Amino acid sequence: MCEMCRDNPFDRYQLSRRNLLIIAGSLLATKAAGAKETKKEAKAPPKPQNVLSPDASLERLLKGNSRYVDGVSLRHDFKHERDALVGGQNPYAAILSCADSRIAPEYAFDSGRGDLFVCRVAGNFATSEVIASMEYAVAVLGVPLILVLGHESCGAVDAAIKSLRDDKALPGHMPSLVDAVAPAVKAVSQQAGDVLGKAIRQNVIDNVGKLSSATPILSAAVEQRKLKVVGGVYGLRDGRVEMMA
Ligand SMILES: [Zn+2]
Repeated sequence: MCEMCRDNPFDRYQLSRRNLLIIAGSLLATKAAGAKETKKEAKAPPKPQNVLSPDASLERLLKGNSRYVDGVSLRHDFKHERDALVGGQNPYAAILSCADSRIAPEYAFDSGRGDLFVCRVAGNFATSEVIASMEYAVAVLGVPLILVLGHESCGAVDAAIKSLRDDKALPGHMPSLVDAVAPAVKAVSQQAGDVLGKAIRQNVIDNVGKLSSATPILSAAVEQRKLKVVGGVYGLRDGRVEMMA
């Protein structure tokens, strides 16, 4: 079990509920007194280089992906950053990725520990638990960017297409994946061409919309330009992440 799960997360990051409310409040409405107190009580981030604007965060992700694609990833010094990460975390981006073993966000963006807050589920869709996790990342950890990362040849989306087309339920709990991806599949089902590719992209678009409009925390952060939610699709052949407008 991870530390986040074992401990009360608000205690783990040495943030009292009162401080959390201050942080959340600052996202919902700019209150000078609250902002002042938050600044006064905030401790130094373990990775100062991760304190970025939404645009700078995206630029860093894309540069990391370029290094990964070109086979010139950095050598990450995991040993010497352990001490800094014992007391907390301040990742520079959050990623909602498919669980597919061929997609590895930390590798794909050439990032180290404490850099990316990653939620993964087959089909990369935002459940209530994923939204809650992203709220935590944004409101408590100060993450400025969420990337919904679909990928080429996604088996979850492909299975949903076939299940809906053949009107045949998948076994076990897998119908829940189909239900989650179904809106994207249905939206492109009448279009010509590569239905799987189009459904993968539509699913990313749908979940970018779902996260960016999730009230009260994420939508307010987007409105206040403290957060950007973007989408991309990972190419299996070259590892390049194609960003979606
Ligand atoms: Zn997938």
